Amino acid sequence: MRSITIRQINIYPIAMTLVERLRTSFGEEPFKAAILIELQTDEGITGWGECSAEIKPGYSPETVGTAQHILQQFLIPALLGKTLHSATEVPALLSEVRGHPLAKHGLEAAVWDALAKANDMSLAEAFAMHLPDGHTPRGYATVGVSIGIKPSVEATLDTIRLRLSQGYERIKLKIRPGWDVELARGVRAELPDITLMLDANSAYTLADADHLSQLDEFNLLMLEQPLAYDDIFEHSKLQPRLQTPICLDESIHSANDVRLALELGACRIINLKPARVGGYTESLEIYKVCVENNVPLWIGGLLETGIGRSANLAFASLPGVTLPSDISATDRYYAPDLTEPPFVLGPNSTIAAPTGPGIGVEVKLDRVREAAARWERDNPYRV
Ligand code: MG
Repeated sequence: MRSITIRQINIYPIAMTLVERLRTSFGEEPFKAAILIELQTDEGITGWGECSAEIKPGYSPETVGTAQHILQQFLIPALLGKTLHSATEVPALLSEVRGHPLAKHGLEAAVWDALAKANDMSLAEAFAMHLPDGHTPRGYATVGVSIGIKPSVEATLDTIRLRLSQGYERIKLKIRPGWDVELARGVRAELPDITLMLDANSAYTLADADHLSQLDEFNLLMLEQPLAYDDIFEHSKLQPRLQTPICLDESIHSANDVRLALELGACRIINLKPARVGGYTESLEIYKVCVENNVPLWIGGLLETGIGRSANLAFASLPGVTLPSDISATDRYYAPDLTEPPFVLGPNSTIAAPTGPGIGVEVKLDRVREAAARWERDNPYRV
């Protein structure tokens, strides 16, 4: 592997207008925020990463404001001037900062991109170098679509039918108390055979176990994160009371969290968001734990722009990612996106992983500047 020496790192907080607002148990945000990380090497290679911090500390405790502070004051200075042979060296260089996985992920992703470009390989190939023999990238990711909370079962069915007609073969519905069993019943009555899963985004407590067990009759692929965002123990009490496999999302921040969850029987499926676990190095560790334990794995999304999406697609093209990932085609999210070409849905609910060097998509700098200007103008929480 050719090494890179990091000369400069710029960050761009951005605001992106969503094609369709996604309503979850957290509520709605006016636009999708993120921080783009642009890393320059001594040889003039540019690596891009995306920090998926949001406007408010909802999904994660991190926000655009906290991530800017941590990146500028602590994380970026720890990387400037460093010569790296592998992006897996990054976590140790950032280890003096506790927490802040979204910020660390954005920075590490930019290093992955720059190193892959320096070595003329795709990100999928770069990831696979750190996996056991036989884990050759498939060239595509199998994907599904996530549908937010709608005003009625009928409106939900309309959206599901639209997505099915577009070619998505796995449907995920967001639920919350009062919008769960009857929703599943109504959908199953009309669409008994679709691959269906529900995501609760931590909206329930263990006291809801009997209520949630009513979901068992609907042949769900999984129930995602029913209990608290920071809980593993109570999920281990809930899982034995359900036939439906629990998938943990928010609770998983490291490979050790996965080991603990599996040891306790807290879940049977893992949703891996590389941003949530602090980067692709930790993601590769989680991948290996899941493969060793025969645990189904899929890649979740945080409404990434094309920069973060392309890297997640590369990861989701690895063969140990065995269930459909939450990475929809570009036109579901942004028109236009920050990168070209757009990701389009292919046959059998798949999206091709980029084959060019690094993230394999072209970053449109004029659109990045426009999104950065939108953030400056519309950011409701100035720091
Ligand atoms: Mg989720």
